[in-house]
Amino acid sequence: MSTAAPIPAPSHKEFILTLEGVNKAFDGFKAISNLNFYMDKGELRTIIGPNGAGKSTMMDIITGRTRPDTGRVEFGKDTDLTRLNEYQINRLGIGRKFQTPSVYTDHTVFENILLSLPGTRSVWEALFSRVTPRQRERIDEILTLIRLADKGSSKAGVLAHGQKQWLEIGMLLAQDPKLLLVDEPAAGMTDEETARTGELLLGLAGHHSIIVIEHDMVFVRQIASKVTVLHQGTVLCEGTVDQVQNNDRVIEVYLGRKHEKKTT
Ligand code: ADP
Ligand code: MG
Repeated sequence: MSTAAPIPAPSHKEFILTLEGVNKAFDGFKAISNLNFYMDKGELRTIIGPNGAGKSTMMDIITGRTRPDTGRVEFGKDTDLTRLNEYQINRLGIGRKFQTPSVYTDHTVFENILLSLPGTRSVWEALFSRVTPRQRERIDEILTLIRLADKGSSKAGVLAHGQKQWLEIGMLLAQDPKLLLVDEPAAGMTDEETARTGELLLGLAGHHSIIVIEHDMVFVRQIASKVTVLHQGTVLCEGTVDQVQNNDRVIEVYLGRKHEKKTT
């Protein structure tokens, strides 16, 4: 049986993200408990864990939505995220995709990406000033990447659920984030959409560092090189999909909860 504690971080290495000794309690309940998490630049990391394990809270802490009670949260070598607000953290290049897509349904797919490009100050400015060749090129590039190249002039509101999710990933990419946080991208998707989402994320890895929270183990198997299992706000184990699926403690945690009522 492998041990619970993650391997201590070698000090010479530069991580894109470091969480060390992080704690967060809500009304005395420890949602995050002595959490240590280290991520390499360009990595595509998958986080799994039962409901209430603290996955979303961990993302809230990284993005500045929630402030930890104690612990280090660092971006790159020396940017202390605990001192910054959500807006400042986003400006540093940390983008987050929530579970429900929030696209501008009355605007076209093309306009949605345009509105997300850096430096675009307002809807008015984006839509009524001329689109530069460079902007058009970048938008086309993103549309191809998110497989919506033939949907540029469609209203975002008419897209299928999966396509809306891709559009939102495209809107995040338009901001050229260094670190991308994606919460359950495959939720509500068909098998085919899920597989395409996996391909999309795999294609982004390397250029971007990405954290994906996911439940669907078929999807996790498709995308994951390294999986972190969270349980009770701390890392239960880390490794390949096979390693974590065969880990006794992981099996116990999942099977032990099998008959509990789902809370979310
Ligand atoms: P997960 O995303 O892994 O399902 P969460 O991070 O959403 O887990 O929640 C972890 C625990 O912290 C849960 O028990 C949840 O009820 C609690 N929690 C999360 N956010 C808050 C909050 N703002 N106030 C009170 N409790 C919270
Ligand atoms: Mg959650």
